[in-house]
Amino acid sequence: MQEVDKKVTELAPPKYTLNAEQERKEILRHYSALLRGLRPKLKRGDKELVRTAFEMAAEAHKTMRRKSGEPYILHPLAVAKICTEEIGLGVRSSICALLHDTVEDTDVTLEDVEREFGSEIARIVDGLTKISNVIDTSTSKQADNFKKILLTLTDDPRVILIKLADRLHNMRTMDFMKPEKQLKISSETVWVYAPLAHRMGLYAIKTELEDLSMKYMEPDAYKDIAKKLAETKRERTRYINEFIRPLKEKLDVSGFNFEIYGRPKSIHSIWNKIKKKTVAFEEVYDLFAIRIILDSVPEKEKEECWKVYSIITDEYNPSPERLRDWLSNPKSNGYEALHTTVMGPQGRWVEVQIRTKRMNEIAEKGLAAHYKYKEGSNDEDRFDKWFGQIREVISSQDTDSVDFLQDFKTSFLAEEIYVYTPKGDVKMLPVNSTALDFAFSIHSAIGSKCIGAKVNHKLVPISHKLRSGDQIEIITSNKQKPTEDWLNQVVTAKAKSKIKDALKEAKRSVAEEGKYIIQKKLEGLGAAYNQANIEELVQYFKLNSSLDFFYDVAVKKIDLKELKEFTIHGDKLEAPKPLKLPEIKEFDPKPSYGKKESELIIFGESSDKVMYALAKCCNPIPGDDVFGFVSTGKGLIIHRTNCPNATQMMANYGHRVVRTKWAKNKEISFLTGLRIIGMDDVGVVSKITQVISSDMKINIAALTIESEEGLFEGTIKVFVHDKDELDELVVRLKALKGIEMVDRFDTEV
Ligand code: MN
Repeated sequence: MQEVDKKVTELAPPKYTLNAEQERKEILRHYSALLRGLRPKLKRGDKELVRTAFEMAAEAHKTMRRKSGEPYILHPLAVAKICTEEIGLGVRSSICALLHDTVEDTDVTLEDVEREFGSEIARIVDGLTKISNVIDTSTSKQADNFKKILLTLTDDPRVILIKLADRLHNMRTMDFMKPEKQLKISSETVWVYAPLAHRMGLYAIKTELEDLSMKYMEPDAYKDIAKKLAETKRERTRYINEFIRPLKEKLDVSGFNFEIYGRPKSIHSIWNKIKKKTVAFEEVYDLFAIRIILDSVPEKEKEECWKVYSIITDEYNPSPERLRDWLSNPKSNGYEALHTTVMGPQGRWVEVQIRTKRMNEIAEKGLAAHYKYKEGSNDEDRFDKWFGQIREVISSQDTDSVDFLQDFKTSFLAEEIYVYTPKGDVKMLPVNSTALDFAFSIHSAIGSKCIGAKVNHKLVPISHKLRSGDQIEIITSNKQKPTEDWLNQVVTAKAKSKIKDALKEAKRSVAEEGKYIIQKKLEGLGAAYNQANIEELVQYFKLNSSLDFFYDVAVKKIDLKELKEFTIHGDKLEAPKPLKLPEIKEFDPKPSYGKKESELIIFGESSDKVMYALAKCCNPIPGDDVFGFVSTGKGLIIHRTNCPNATQMMANYGHRVVRTKWAKNKEISFLTGLRIIGMDDVGVVSKITQVISSDMKINIAALTIESEEGLFEGTIKVFVHDKDELDELVVRLKALKGIEMVDRFDTEV
């Protein structure tokens, strides 16, 4: 039994070198491959339509080339192939994929497309064009773009599926792009597209998007894990075989028709585990999952999956808290399966996933497969429901786009729990939902009157976090009113927007009183109650709106005595000139140690003219992969590309990212931290300090060692010149006897 191999993306392929004739053949070869994949789906007349689309696109793109030097048409051909073969879309979607870049980049117009292919295809191509329009302008925020993507998504889900195929192909072929573009596109991909693929049920594509992004954002870690996976493959295969053998025999005896194999987890998910649990690769036990795919008839699916479960747990002991039953309650992206984690040979935990062929197709092709099976079934359509919820939120929100994106991510792209109403109806909510979220999910009137809940018959506060399987009864009171604080006690977009609405409404009624007070006051002073005068006041008190002003007056936050200082011309009010100049926030010149002129190369600018500072969140040192971020008021801030905040910054404000690189400079040193774990041993401290100060002549800023029961943990802050020197130090420390782990951490300067 072999472990099924995953694509590990290699480094840059050789640059494209073909003559015109070879090129023509290459294009036709890709076209035939597309047709072969489409063949089972072709109805009469379809083949001609595909050919027309191909010819139209080939003609339109004929003078264009990709960054790699290949003819451009290979891109739409590849996107069409991903649509059919990896997402399971049909002929019409392939036609749209072939045409997806024509209206945007060539002379072909939407009218041309409509004339040739009709309005359905024209509408999808239009949707795709709108998305690329907003994504390619470097001035608009990506978060804003995403909102637009979602608007087209709810029009026709095929738009987003084709867009995902487009993004996947671009990620697969990004080696020829400039590094800053690679970073920008990668972060946008992990931030938005991978979760979206996940939500659409496209697990394989989600995983590949994450792995590819990591390849550009964390190249070292990526290569390291890929290498270790390759090195440990034989050992893993042996283990999987040993694990599977007894199961196979029993399943055969029971007469099941099945496939069983081991599948490595993605590089990205292994990396996450290493980071989250701060363990070494060698300590990540569940590097793979075992998958059993049953050939089963629809009526027997559930029963047979559970039978297989019982066969497995007869052989191996299951971990009771790691059973996931998505047979009875599929995820709202359609995913169905039974997952369990059992203790395998040599005391290692192994995850086992049990599915039928139908479930497997849904797991791999998501939405498209779901629609295929939906026909003729009475199953309530989860996707339609989901789209409905998105539409509701988009249309009711007028908040900042970044806020919107955050809300959207937590309420629609997160993992889910299912909970029950007192009558036993199931409700799906995102992970971390509270009793208050649940109340709002039932009705906004119940949400805004909620004072608490009974979860499984026990009284809990509104902020109580729900767990799968909870049964919830909401307790309301007519005296209850939403407060500002509630916003921190919910995660769903629906609850948030309803609370905001209620707060605004409450504020408005209080503000009415302030309005009345101001009207009287202005009249008393002989000034007019008009917009110009109100604006003068709003500005003077540095507020955002007249609503805020009236509100502050009503709650007496503003002292109206200050109005005495105003002068009045006719009926016009004039604010006194401020005596002090407004404070200008100065760029903090010493956020990090060391003098640091000109050792940073900022591309496209002369570096010594640019003010910059090193980010405190990740403390970059020379040699780290870094990027510059143009911050408001503080100039350029340099972050490490693997800074925990980097993804969000790059995804939301890609246009403010500036490419930077370190130049060699031996004069300056930077503070960085190392964590060391090892066996407590006499003289260990002196051995460590010997390596640092004597052997490598590095200055120590601080050193603490704590030991307990033979084990010690030390943190050391040292001044190093660059990453090479730090790496060298780590290697030398690791070589010391008794030292188990040396790890860099970010010092709080
Ligand atoms: Mn494209």
